This record gives sequence, C-alpha cells and structure tokens, in this order.
Amino acid sequence: MSETILITGGAGFIGSNLVHRWHRNHPDDRILVLDKLTYAADRTQIEGLEGVELVVGDVQNLELARHLIQKHRVTKLFHLAAESHVDRSITGPAEFIQTNLGGTFSMLEAARQAWAGDTACRFLHISTDEVYGSLGDTGKFHEAMAYAPNSPYSASKAGSDHLVRAYHHTYGLNTVTTNCSNNYGPRQHPEKLIPLAITRMAKGEPIPIYGDGLNIRDWLFVEDHCAALETVMRTGVAGETYCVGGDNEQTNLALVDGLCDLVDRHLQRPQGTSRKLKTFVQDRAGHDRRYAIDATKIQQELGWKPETGFEQGLEATVEWYLK
Ligand code: NAD
Repeated sequence: MSETILITGGAGFIGSNLVHRWHRNHPDDRILVLDKLTYAADRTQIEGLEGVELVVGDVQNLELARHLIQKHRVTKLFHLAAESHVDRSITGPAEFIQTNLGGTFSMLEAARQAWAGDTACRFLHISTDEVYGSLGDTGKFHEAMAYAPNSPYSASKAGSDHLVRAYHHTYGLNTVTTNCSNNYGPRQHPEKLIPLAITRMAKGEPIPIYGDGLNIRDWLFVEDHCAALETVMRTGVAGETYCVGGDNEQTNLALVDGLCDLVDRHLQRPQGTSRKLKTFVQDRAGHDRRYAIDATKIQQELGWKPETGFEQGLEATVEWYLK
C-alpha cells in the first residue's frame, strides 16, 4: 500500500540522497520534503521527481508541521533538517540551538499531536556519532556509551536526541534514533572536507588541513547511510537507538592524500600535483581527535551492513564533483 512519508531537510546532502533512494525503492509512495532551503540546500537535486513535493518552511513551525502530517496522512517521518557544520556552530551557535533543538521539539510535538497515539506511525531522528565526544587511540562509540558532546553542534544534536528519547518514554511516540559517523558522497555542500578538497584540487587552490591532519574520522558512503535509515525505519525497535558506521577509520591526511591521487588521475595530471596544494592551518577549537563506531547492534539485530568499499565510494564521489 502506498504511503506518504515526510523528510525534513530533504534538500540537503543526506536528505536529498534519501529522497532519491526512497523514490527509487518505493515509486508509489508520496514524498513530502520540508526544508527551509538554507545555504546548505540545493532544491534542484530533488526537483522533477514524480511524487516528490517540496514544502519550503522551517521545522520550528509547529503549526505547519502538524498541518502537513495531518493533511497528507504522513505515516513515516525522517527528521534530518539541521544546521550541520561544526565550524559554523563555533562562530554562530544560536541557529544550531534554534533549529536542532527547537526544530526537533516542534517536529516531535507536531507528530505527537497529529498521530494522537497511533503507534503505527514512526518518527526516525537522524543524529550523529559526535554526541559521544572524542575517543583516544582505542575503543569505539556504541549505544550504551554516555553522551559527552564537545561542540555547540554536537551539544545541540545531543539535546535533540534526549528530547526524542523523552517523547518515546513520556508519550509513547514511536521513535527511533540513529547516530551515524561522517558521510561522504554526491550532493554535499562544498564547505565540508571532501567536496571542499576536491573542488580546491580541481581549481589548483590550497587545501586547508586542520592541525597536524591526524584527526581520525570513520567515513561512510551516503547511500549506505540511507540504506541504514530505510532499514531502521522498517525494522528498528521503537525507542531504540542505533549506531551506524563504515568501520573505515581514516586520518584527515590519509583521506586528502587519497583524494589528491584520485583527482590527479581523473584530470590526467602528473601524480603529486594535488598533494602540493595541502596547507596546514590552525586547528579547529576543541577539535575531537578520533571517532569510531561499533555498528554491531544494527548489523546483528537488523541485518544492515555497508555495501560500498571506500575506494569505490571515493571514486564515485570524485567523479560526481568533477562533473
Ligand atoms: P546539510 O547541512 O547538508 O542539510 C541540512 C538541510 O536541512 C538543508 O537542506 C537545510 O536547508 C535544512 N534546514 C536547516 N535548517 C532548517 C530549518 N530550520 N527548517 C527546515 N530545514 C532546515 O546536512 P546533512 O549533512 O545532510 O545532515 C543531515 C542530518 O544528518 C543532520 O541532522 C545531521 O546532524 C545528521 N548527520 C550528518 C552527518 C554527515 O556526515 N553529514 C553524519 C551524521 C549525522
């Protein structure tokens, strides 16, 4: 039976990839996208898809959200809308608190009012592994770990996760939360490390690298993240949280070196050309050293695992941005 699903932030990086995936896998479903179209959005990425409708609006607008859920009989809600760039949260935290915390509150409250106790309807909250803080040389983030966010961005996401938890425990709202590692792939705003590095390489401009470049992130191809979201929406247990990661730890330096070589090959330049553009800059304030995810729970309980190898994913990503 066809359904109407609502994707907040569907004109952003992960949201637009999710819109494409859901549209491909569920062609009879109607997809509503609620997005404020901030600088990070690109509406052209989701235009022209049959059955996909963009509603330009703010997730803090409770009335609008409730109206949309009620009028269109939304049964599945993916909440992705957020301010997402850590650097921007350091220079301007207010919007992060408003959108990430206030916006999540409004969406939860709208869903609670519109669904009125109907537990067949589900709210999937998309969060980050950054809520767990920073790791030393060993260990991995997992669902039972205490939250220890270090940036205004991760603190705002941590707060939103707690609200989601509270709405499940207090009101019985059917919620699930995912905490995912760094995503890469097509359709990301070029301020983030991978698209920034590729576009700088293509133009022959300096590629900024924070500190010593040895901060470690666990990278997951965006399509694999979207597959995890689909799996959790369909089979996740209400009230649970799931850590999602690629088991793919890379230092920023190794990542950029790999990208340099790929871009040189794609642009048929001598190997080493792009590596010369690497420029070390002052470290980000409070820069978390290492993130790594233990994704055993989602793998064993829900059967999800990443399908895209890192080289394959990077190749596809470089191709997309160079085009
Ligand atoms: P993004 O910045 O690319 O997109 C965010 C989208 O939200 C944009 O389209 C923007 O216009 C919209 N938006 C922002 N404020 C809004 C508001 N007040 N009302 C309505 N729409 C608004 O972000 P992304 O990288 O696609 O991340 C999506 C979600 O996934 C976020 O919640 C983020 O915390 C989470 N996440 C991201 C990553 C990652 O690596 N990118 C990893 C884990 C979790």
